[in-house]
Amino acid sequence: MNAKQMREILDVIAEMFPDAHCELNHSNPFELTIAVLLSAQCTDETVNKVTAGLFEKYKRPEDYLSVSLEELQQDIKRIGLYRNKATHIQKMCRLLLDKFDGRIPEEHDKLTELPGVGRKTANVVMSNAFGVPAIAVDTHVDRVSKRLGAAKPDDSVLEVEKKLMKLVPREEWTLTHHRLIFFGRYHCKAQNPSCGICPLLDRCKEGKRRMKPVRNRKDKERKLQR
Ligand code: SF4
Repeated sequence: MNAKQMREILDVIAEMFPDAHCELNHSNPFELTIAVLLSAQCTDETVNKVTAGLFEKYKRPEDYLSVSLEELQQDIKRIGLYRNKATHIQKMCRLLLDKFDGRIPEEHDKLTELPGVGRKTANVVMSNAFGVPAIAVDTHVDRVSKRLGAAKPDDSVLEVEKKLMKLVPREEWTLTHHRLIFFGRYHCKAQNPSCGICPLLDRCKEGKRRMKPVRNRKDKERKLQR
């Protein structure tokens, strides 16, 4: 795929999801980091339900360290992998206080020093909390990029990210990340993508492959009607 083809795809997706945005509720970089950390293998909807109460109770790194690990686990137990996540949160808060003055750092390499914060989380925090352009590749961005041919099926997450960074203008990285997520979450879903009504079907090999049996069936029905 070249940048021109990507442009056409981005424009179509932008028309479909002009208001795409981060769906994790937060009011500062610290809350966003906690929310993204909690969102691994969990829906944003569930995270938002849990953080509604969590962010009332815990406002600063000190607050998360003032309770036992078991209490924090109880507070987030509706979320998958809550035991590991509670441990990461407390370790992260400890490091924030010891090394970063209790604040979330803005730099990517410093963010990834934080326990539980990988490249994707760092990209989300940098772009949404600090306005630094970044494309975080989550499961939706990965799947949609591959289906549309912006990346190869066996590309790693990092390869997908690098390819998108080349194809998309830097100033659009963050918005593209949100739009690809919305496109994947609400239209090009993992199990039942809406290929039959997809405005990108003509440009999508995966969609054509999926629609082939439908087209064949319709052709047969037409022949029978003649
Ligand atoms: Fe996704 Fe189907 Fe559209 Fe391709 S045609 S982008 S697989 S919904």
